[in-house]
Amino acid sequence: MNLYLIKYGEITLKGKNRRFFENKLLSNLRSRVGPYGGEVEFYQGRIFVRSEDDRIIPILQDTFGLVEICPAIKLPLDMDVLRRTAAEEMKKLVGEGPATFKVEARRSNKSFELDSPAINHDIGGYILHHVPNVSVDVHQPQIRLEIEVREQFYMYVETFPALGGIPYGTAGKSVVLMSGGIDSPVAAFQMARRGVEIVPLHFHAMPFTSEMALDKVRQLVHRLTYYTDWLYFYHINLSEAQITIRENCDERYYTILQRRLMTRLATKLAEQKHALSLTTGENLAQVASQTMEGIVCTNDATHLPVFRPLISFDKDDIVRRAKQIETFETSILPYEDCCTIFLPSKVATRPKLADVLAEEAKLDMDALVEQTWKTIVREKIEA
Ligand code: ATP
Ligand code: MG
Repeated sequence: MNLYLIKYGEITLKGKNRRFFENKLLSNLRSRVGPYGGEVEFYQGRIFVRSEDDRIIPILQDTFGLVEICPAIKLPLDMDVLRRTAAEEMKKLVGEGPATFKVEARRSNKSFELDSPAINHDIGGYILHHVPNVSVDVHQPQIRLEIEVREQFYMYVETFPALGGIPYGTAGKSVVLMSGGIDSPVAAFQMARRGVEIVPLHFHAMPFTSEMALDKVRQLVHRLTYYTDWLYFYHINLSEAQITIRENCDERYYTILQRRLMTRLATKLAEQKHALSLTTGENLAQVASQTMEGIVCTNDATHLPVFRPLISFDKDDIVRRAKQIETFETSILPYEDCCTIFLPSKVATRPKLADVLAEEAKLDMDALVEQTWKTIVREKIEA
């Protein structure tokens, strides 16, 4: 049975709420590692995972809230055993060498006779004598040999980095407007990584857009469930409303009016789901609707805060993240988006809110929202 000591970062700072975060993290971990026969244990402020299946390592690395995964060796409180095991592990790791190292002991079991500096000194000295080609570097060692003194020794020399963030489901809920593009799945991921429960909502325009275009978004949502376990995916048919907008309004405002309608529908969903915010994949000044003026006009259509986690990202950063979370290949499949099917020839890139509202007054917006809302569909997507 392999043993992993789990380091989780920021939530140790959360003061009184710490137990709430830890409990959520534990239950998230249990459901993620369960299928791999993993067992999770919380013991004296540390999380330990046991499993025989190595595939558990990437799963742990991709769990929000974790910082490092350390395969650990558990030993009886016997300095002689510790010395020999430490030297063996170092030999395995160093090979021919050379390598620099540092021993870092932490004694939480104060009844153990040696304190941390004494253990460092003892084990460091033993390694220097028994492992060829190593030297100590206390500032930037290549190898950190860590020892925790508890009811037993826990020793680890290797660590795998994890995603960081905070445990999923500890930071409220947000309706994420998901197109089939590159940006919105990354935006959803960024929010989920900050603990926000996400409710993906997509607008399609069937029959003008294809079943394949909708399925592409479904696939993107499915990929996100790798991190969240499961999600309710909502989609709404915008085609009738788009026709109404086109028949009644100046084409320069199609995009922005459509955005305002989407925002209203997303707000309605948020209210039903008790979500306190909306999230989009908008990124300042990439396209006309994403100028600051455009954003003012869409924000005006909701009383909820609209989070735009990618607002400051460069396109390269977004693409890198999309590749990392494996949404990129799906996002670039060439299916049409509902926003692009009635593309106007002229667009107001710096719309004034007053003009947009005047244009919108030509529509019965409330009726349009009600009518369009009737097309909403919910699907449960599981990992
Ligand atoms: P993306 O790559 O996410 O599509 P983008 O840079 O192409 O973003 P737009 O297409 O202008 O930009 O969309 C901006 C944001 O508006 C999207 O990130 C998404 O949050 C929302 N959005 C756009 N189209 C849709 C849609 N069909 N359904 C739901 N949300 C949408
Ligand atoms: Mg797009």
